[in-house]
Amino acid sequence: MSKQYGNFINGAWIDGDQAIDNVNPSDTDDIVGCYASASAEQMQAAVAAARSALPQWADTTTQFRSDILARVSAELTARKEELGELVSREAGKTRAEGQGEVLRAAQVFQFFSGEAVRYGGENLPSTRPNIGIQISRDPVGVVAAITPWNFPIAIPAWKLAPALAFGNTAILKPSEFTPAIAVELMKILERSGAPAGVVNLVNGTGATTAQGLLQGIDAVSFTGSVATGHKVAQIAVGRMIRVQLEMGGKNPLVILDDADLDVAVECALNGAFYSAGQRCTASSRLIVAEDIHDRFVEALRKRIQAVKVGHALDEDTTIGPVINQSQLDKILEYVEVGKNEGGKLLEGGKRLEGRTPGYYMAPTLFAETVNSMRINREEVFGPFATVIRVRDYDEALYVANDTDFGLSSGICTTSLKHANHFRQNIRSGLTMVNLPTAGLDYHVPFGGVKGSSYGQREQGQYAVDFYTNTKTAYVGY
Ligand code: NAD
Repeated sequence: MSKQYGNFINGAWIDGDQAIDNVNPSDTDDIVGCYASASAEQMQAAVAAARSALPQWADTTTQFRSDILARVSAELTARKEELGELVSREAGKTRAEGQGEVLRAAQVFQFFSGEAVRYGGENLPSTRPNIGIQISRDPVGVVAAITPWNFPIAIPAWKLAPALAFGNTAILKPSEFTPAIAVELMKILERSGAPAGVVNLVNGTGATTAQGLLQGIDAVSFTGSVATGHKVAQIAVGRMIRVQLEMGGKNPLVILDDADLDVAVECALNGAFYSAGQRCTASSRLIVAEDIHDRFVEALRKRIQAVKVGHALDEDTTIGPVINQSQLDKILEYVEVGKNEGGKLLEGGKRLEGRTPGYYMAPTLFAETVNSMRINREEVFGPFATVIRVRDYDEALYVANDTDFGLSSGICTTSLKHANHFRQNIRSGLTMVNLPTAGLDYHVPFGGVKGSSYGQREQGQYAVDFYTNTKTAYVGY
């Protein structure tokens, strides 16, 4: 039996009650490692460790916390090639995507290393005489970070870096499909000087997480599917603890008649298919005005046909595999749904063979779809996009907003008037003009509206609102 990578609880590496093999989606013969799966009791032990480490950690100087985060950033940057390869192996991302993600995690730790010393409060005069008011920020307490497999180091970084910067202790529960890079991140945090119990790692399944981890904490930051997000919210609200949810998307990319065709096609190709479409910000609905429709579809098809799907670590691969068999099955099911609903399958729609046994899905494009079809309403989460033909800008905006989701959106146009109107009237948390709907900076807020997100924004200076409580002190003199 291969070595088991443990959970990290109170500064010690501990075996789980079970272990899960981590399979490379590019090559199912390649087992990345065998990872401990924590029991509910072990998750509770992690919560207890974080609770007992909290007072001392909250009392450390901001410089102390800033230095630890800076060391994490430096090590991630120095090891981006090796760690990027690990991300590629366990998550099926291309080499460039894997390295890019590790670098992004490094940038996030660097940013919050700065925020740790920059955040503060306010001094205000009272409306009454001889009183001063000080508004300061206290840590929320013990924070759980529950994360998905599609950004296995960047999303843990979004959550752990601000949690630690602002004096909280934390427990990371990564996806059971991507535990390897989470283990590496914990080792780096340990080496960088995070004291025992300040940051903990519990691998394991969702059901155990609900029973174990969610019971004794003060706040939970969750990223994942809508269905799981709702379960997490119910427990959190039942316990009256702070909760932040980042969930799915059905992101529209509008292409108007006056768009630069090359720009529009590149935005659609990148936004819909890169990272095998497994991005919550992926452009899954391409809403195209009728005068450019046929030219756009023809040009996009040519670009799709030139894409190389293959082993994530092959140099010529543009799109790696999807994460696992059940995700592949789900995408193939949606292909059947799309055909039955009357959509016209133009590209893909099938599994591909690779040089190794992996979960390879052909980039799939449906045209002649209408917005009421299930393929336009439900998140597929794969290299799968639809084209919806519309008359003009007004109909495009209406269709773009006609969705339960509201994470990202985009418009390709050379009209300043339409770009500005769209920016102001689209109901989404992120919006892009002449850019893919995916691809973000790390120093600005991230999140959606409607069914995509719940609670405060992540990232940038706004993250402080989730990870701290304000305290208003009145001081008489
Ligand atoms: P998922 O909901 O299946 O799992 C997410 C995490 O929740 C995992 O760690 C899982 O073990 C855990 N979990 C599962 N059941 C649980 C329960 N009952 N209680 C507590 N935790 C539980 O999601 P996934 O398949 O890993 O990720 C894909 C989804 O994530 C997509 O819907 C995608 O849109 C979304 N996503 C959203 C964002 C965003 O920021 N909006 C970013 C990336 C991914």
